[in-house]
Amino acid sequence: MKELKVIPIETDVLVIGGGLAGCMAAINAAGNKELKVTLAEKSDTRASGKAGTGVDHAWSYIPPVHEPMGYTLDDLVEDWRQSTASGASGFLRDDLVRLVASTMYDRMLDLEKFGINFRYEDSKVPGKFRVVYQYFSVPGSFNFDGVPLKPKLTAEMKKRGVQIINRVQVTDLIKTDGQISGAVGVGTRIAEIYFFKAKAVVLCAGGQSRIHRNPTGVDFNTFGPPTCTGDGAAMALHAGLPIVNMESLSGKPNLRAGANYNPNYGDPRSTVQPAARIIDWKGNIIVPRTRFYDWEKLGKEKWTPEVRRKWLEERRSIGNIRGRMAEMHDRGEGPFYLDFAEATDYEAQYIEWSIKNEGRGTQFMRYFKDEEGFDLKKTRQEYAGYGPMEFGTGQRGLWVNRGLETEIRNLFAAGDEVGAFLNAAAAPGALAGGWYAGGMAATRALAQKKFPVAGEEEVKGRKAICSELLNRERGFFWKEVEVYLQNLMDFYCGGIRSEAMLKRGLERLDYARAAPLKADNPHELARCLEVKSIMDTAEMVLRCSLERKESRPEPLGFRRSDYPQPSQEWSCFLGIRLEDGEFKYAKYRGDKPV
Ligand SMILES: Cc1cc2nc3c(=O)[nH]c(=O)nc-3n(C[C@H](O)[C@H](O)[C@H](O)COP(=O)(O)OP(=O)(O)OC[C@H]3O[C@@H](n4cnc5c(N)ncnc54)[C@H](O)[C@@H]3O)c2cc1C
Repeated sequence: MKELKVIPIETDVLVIGGGLAGCMAAINAAGNKELKVTLAEKSDTRASGKAGTGVDHAWSYIPPVHEPMGYTLDDLVEDWRQSTASGASGFLRDDLVRLVASTMYDRMLDLEKFGINFRYEDSKVPGKFRVVYQYFSVPGSFNFDGVPLKPKLTAEMKKRGVQIINRVQVTDLIKTDGQISGAVGVGTRIAEIYFFKAKAVVLCAGGQSRIHRNPTGVDFNTFGPPTCTGDGAAMALHAGLPIVNMESLSGKPNLRAGANYNPNYGDPRSTVQPAARIIDWKGNIIVPRTRFYDWEKLGKEKWTPEVRRKWLEERRSIGNIRGRMAEMHDRGEGPFYLDFAEATDYEAQYIEWSIKNEGRGTQFMRYFKDEEGFDLKKTRQEYAGYGPMEFGTGQRGLWVNRGLETEIRNLFAAGDEVGAFLNAAAAPGALAGGWYAGGMAATRALAQKKFPVAGEEEVKGRKAICSELLNRERGFFWKEVEVYLQNLMDFYCGGIRSEAMLKRGLERLDYARAAPLKADNPHELARCLEVKSIMDTAEMVLRCSLERKESRPEPLGFRRSDYPQPSQEWSCFLGIRLEDGEFKYAKYRGDKPV
């Protein structure tokens, strides 16, 4: 009989998940010398999470750029509302957009202090930044050298005395008298139970991948990190918290340059500026190229609502280009290409630099250049098929108030863990949100003298689950059950859904739950626990899809064959929670329950 050792850890602030949000939360909380701050990460903070291989851009309100234009924070929030399907249909959390927009510039200055480069000698932008268009009717996103983000944030955490515990998968939240009092985790390399007692907790376990099959079929070749299996949403559900937007399908099958590895090769709908034009195989231009903002105009020309109107028109003409191309492809009009033939040498170099900082772009650019003789100006990039992706940043996840606190006192959440269609929360949602949540958690921890006493039951329960998995003589390998779940979700819960199909999907999910999983070692134990989170996530997606009785291709990404039209009544977020073993639902509009 394999017995699991219990490791007790007492800490003032516990951060769960060490992606961008978790690292920033820990760094800010640890700015207070009186506090002990601990971060528990399933993988290794030096390279874990969506930004593990770097990010190249971050949106923000940027005072030195936007003030001379007469462009305000209110204008930025309004741009969000008017330019995105979520904003237009009542799915925008103004309060969260405002929180991120108004603090991200300061976070960027912090990141600079931690060693990330944001300034460039050749830049004409005030402060020598590189700022490009993205979501707003003014250039509003920094381009920067983002590859070393995770090592630098890890170094800063160490400098501030954060206790980093890598290779531990947090599985349960502990609640005492309505407030958070800690968490339970399981080692992924050594099968041990971690019993955390904490005065405040920040949950930052990222998004939810591996619910659907990935487009290549190669194991773990997912857009988001495969370690992000919705553990945060699952443990929050079991703690009785509402989770929102679970029914949304973030990516519809479409065409994308570079297909599933998404290096953003100057795609005009993306954030890479200047951008290439899109052409078909005959050379017909489908989307013309875009150019840099003319910085000579800064301060001389003011931003006006007319500028917004023109920009929105242009954006709409490009809008959903990847989806449109998928439709053209289905009519036999492909293939399509990104084409940089018209780019200047400087533009081509700029794009290459940018790609090298974008996610896995570094490796792809090196491979294409060194091994395939790739020349950005001569080698056209084909748009290839791309399946649904569950990456969505700040899309599906925990419902929080404007202070990023959940309904359990002293439990905060940040980054991709938060769900409420902060549309492209993305890196700024994690960096600025994580920092803010860490600060809030530190304040609460400071105000609390004693540790709430509890958690023995949760530790015992988790120990029993792990022992059962490790000691089972016969059972299913985790992978078999995961593939079953992915097939189930693809078949019963894709872009078109219906009551009958969703109910059948739920029945089949019950079979999966009944399948006894078996683990032969700590690695397999961790995978089994992940599969359990995927089951919880899948159940929330199926149930919420059943509850939402309408079709909402934008922004939720799916239709119901039995409710073919969008309904005004459903122009709101849907939350799901567990109460005494039963699923309950609630609607939210803006930041309030309806
Ligand atoms: C390839 C790629 C490129 C991108 N480029 C950009 C960009 O240029 N600009 C931009 O704004 N955004 C970009 N994004 C989005 C952005 O990177 C993410 O929104 C952001 O990094 C999310 O940070 P996070 O901390 O919330 O989540 P993550 O970075 O995903 O971190 C979550 C962490 O939690 C850990 N974890 C999960 N479960 C557990 C558990 N049970 N216990 C303990 N730890 C756990 C994970 O291992 C992970 O380290 C990109 C995303 C991808 C995938």
